[in-house]
Amino acid sequence: MSFPRKLVVLGATGSIGESCLKVIRKHPDKLKLIGISAHSNADKLAAIAREFDVKKVHLCKSPDTQPVLPIQSEFMVGQEMLCQLAAWSEADIVLVAVVGAAGLAPTLAALEAGTDVVLANKESLVVGGELVMQTASRTGARILPADSEHNAVFQCIQGQSHSSVESIALTASGGPFRDRPLDQLQSVTPKEALCHPNWDMGPKITVDSATMANKGLELIEAKWLFNLPPEKLHVLIHPPSIVHALVRFNDGCVFSQMSPPSMTFAIQNALLFPERHPGVDESINFNDSLNLQFYPPDLSRYPCLKLAGDALHQGGLAPLVFNAANEIAVEAFLSNRIGFGLISSIIEKTLNLFDYQPAHSIEDLLSQDQIARKLAHREILSSA
Ligand code: NDP
Ligand code: MG
Repeated sequence: MSFPRKLVVLGATGSIGESCLKVIRKHPDKLKLIGISAHSNADKLAAIAREFDVKKVHLCKSPDTQPVLPIQSEFMVGQEMLCQLAAWSEADIVLVAVVGAAGLAPTLAALEAGTDVVLANKESLVVGGELVMQTASRTGARILPADSEHNAVFQCIQGQSHSSVESIALTASGGPFRDRPLDQLQSVTPKEALCHPNWDMGPKITVDSATMANKGLELIEAKWLFNLPPEKLHVLIHPPSIVHALVRFNDGCVFSQMSPPSMTFAIQNALLFPERHPGVDESINFNDSLNLQFYPPDLSRYPCLKLAGDALHQGGLAPLVFNAANEIAVEAFLSNRIGFGLISSIIEKTLNLFDYQPAHSIEDLLSQDQIARKLAHREILSSA
């Protein structure tokens, strides 16, 4: 693919969106922003549109007042228009950085149009991994991982045969409660959960990091992206968040990718792949000492990780149900409707109560997703 690459960013106002804009500012000759979307933050979206002179600007929710956009910009409103923007034939790459299962439909729309997707939205693979991968393989569109661990694996396996990959380990910081006594975990507040020790991210994924549901979602994401069975997928706690993944090959050699904890490294790698150019952030300084500590997670501290691992092994709709219940439970925790300790209980009860049916189309998946959400809501109400 030649440069400049024309880029549509879905979720442009979020944390990944901001990191992506830094990469575009660094490489204006290589990346041209032509389309952006957000859910409801019209002011921030309009400011991005003006800075980059964006052609198509999309908002899911109708704004109270018309945003001030560049004169030739087209303004699109409504959830259904998101897929239209994702499928825009002018785009070379669509970066999907919306949060939650809402990422599934636009990811599929972009792939269906044959456009390469740089994927930050892990939930779309958790909810519809089979359909997403089949669509990409049918249309020939590529999925380039922007999630830091998956981008690390992607970099490590370039030029290697798939059958030589024996095992991969995704690293995790362990979140803000890594060393908190177990009996104090029930009572942690949203404010404490939103203080991540290493990464600056959106609220949902920050809570997911504290429970390690995030790493569970990432195991499922890795299964689809790299076509690996659950027994080859591992998690290691690595407090400094410098090594993002480890890949062990069948000759016993282990590759890893390292960079400081900023998403600009993974996003730039995916957007400019296979080229390498100067990055946005400072990298590791070889004059400093590196403290690389790794240890396996204690699942009694991270029950959400255990539940995600079980859902990964179960397959079928279990990952979809895990994701839906987690989204609902995290929302309830962030609005002080349930305690931190209840997040895993709500997920577990929803997984146990769900009536598992086959679902293959996007319509089936989305309707099963709604059923799982209703169940989780009911469990939240009955836990009050
Ligand atoms: P943020 O909450 O910071 O941003 C979310 C973005 O999506 C915003 O632009 C938001 O718009 C938009 N959005 C929210 N809801 C919807 C919806 N229903 N439909 C369409 N757009 C919507 O999230 P992050 O940037 O942290 O995360 C985005 C995705 O990337 C998630 O899937 C996350 O797991 C993944 N990810 C994030 C990492 C990070 O470092 N942040 C690292 C790796 C993966 P508005 O601003 O108007 O609300
Ligand atoms: Mg990650």
